[in-house]
Amino acid sequence: MKKDTQSELRFATRAIHAGQEPDASTGAVVIPIHPSSTFLFDAPGKPGAYEYSRTQNPTRAALEECIASLEGGSRAVAFSSGCAAMMAVLNLLVAGDHVVAGDQLYGGALRLFKHLIEPRGIAFEHVDTRNVGNIMAAIRPNTRMVWVETPTNPVMRIVDIQETARITKGCGVWFVVDNTFATPYFQRPLELGADIVVESSTKYFGGHSDLVGGVCAVNDARLGERLAFYQNAAGAVPSPFDCWLQLRGIKTLHVRMERHAANALKVASFLEKHPRVARVYYPGLRSSPQYATARKQMSGFGGMVSFEVRGTDRDAMRVASATKVFMLAESLGGVESLIEHAATMTHAKISKPERARGGLAETLIRLSVGIEDAADLVADLDRALGVLSKRKGKRRR
Ligand SMILES: *Cc1c(COP(=O)(O)O)cnc(C)c1O
Repeated sequence: MKKDTQSELRFATRAIHAGQEPDASTGAVVIPIHPSSTFLFDAPGKPGAYEYSRTQNPTRAALEECIASLEGGSRAVAFSSGCAAMMAVLNLLVAGDHVVAGDQLYGGALRLFKHLIEPRGIAFEHVDTRNVGNIMAAIRPNTRMVWVETPTNPVMRIVDIQETARITKGCGVWFVVDNTFATPYFQRPLELGADIVVESSTKYFGGHSDLVGGVCAVNDARLGERLAFYQNAAGAVPSPFDCWLQLRGIKTLHVRMERHAANALKVASFLEKHPRVARVYYPGLRSSPQYATARKQMSGFGGMVSFEVRGTDRDAMRVASATKVFMLAESLGGVESLIEHAATMTHAKISKPERARGGLAETLIRLSVGIEDAADLVADLDRALGVLSKRKGKRRR
């Protein structure tokens, strides 16, 4: 589909068609997987549209155009993982630069910051981004970037994107939003004033837990050029097959996200009333402290739900091991429901005091709510929580 037609169309139509035209040589309606590493020149010194697949590849180009369209950006640049996409963004920084970052970030982002970027002479300052005033107060003359996730992992705190953008715009600081949890179907940071969006396409874009990939999207052409230069120079590109799988996944992104969100709300509402649950974290619950901010910038609240079990960390581990439909695994965003105990799994590398400081209880369970039948998911959690009553009863005898 041609770019000028795309802009008139709504999200669901662009998810299926943007960047994708029937193959000129065969009429195939699906973008072919182009494994070719190299492409014909028209004449010496005169390359055709493509030269070499690290630099550019037709399947990848279709994916990048599709994602740029969905994020509301002018350009997207795809990488072999979400971490590689984050690295591309961080590589914009030079020695002496300062970054204001959220205090609740994906563990892989923190590892990148600490072990690969800080040693280059770049400083990170972590603040509670629920309050935009904290971001403003942390900005110094050498601040070059503000980096946030919203909703955050795993306690679903919300960062006001528009308010943050107002601050960063005023002082020429790049504003980066990791949009992995919300996806562009529910939240489009570029339209709200962010400069760069990063996404792990391993999660909802792929949607079927069968690939690893990442992407950045921008509106500024020069920024897009710099990221594409890095993509070619550093070379962490996704394979044509993985690009094709992502395109295939994205065709159902809007349908899946609707179901993820509907199921997540049912699960969160059930958990909120359960006597064995101390607290539920889901931005779509009216009782959620940041519901109003979430409503303002998200058109739906996604499929991630966390909750604290009433009891000990052992109790939480027992519940996480007792489900039958929810599978005990890290990662998120696939059609199948996953459950994990954050303190011993995704957040095990963070020290206990740090977890406590970030509001992450040792009894916290994180769910990636899939698109199965919601009644089965609720029944599964009800049964798993029932394990606690039984054990407790026995011990008391
Ligand atoms: C998974 C994830 C990443 C990293 O992506 P990979 O594809 O695993 O490299 C970054 N940010 C968030 C929020 C994630 O969930």
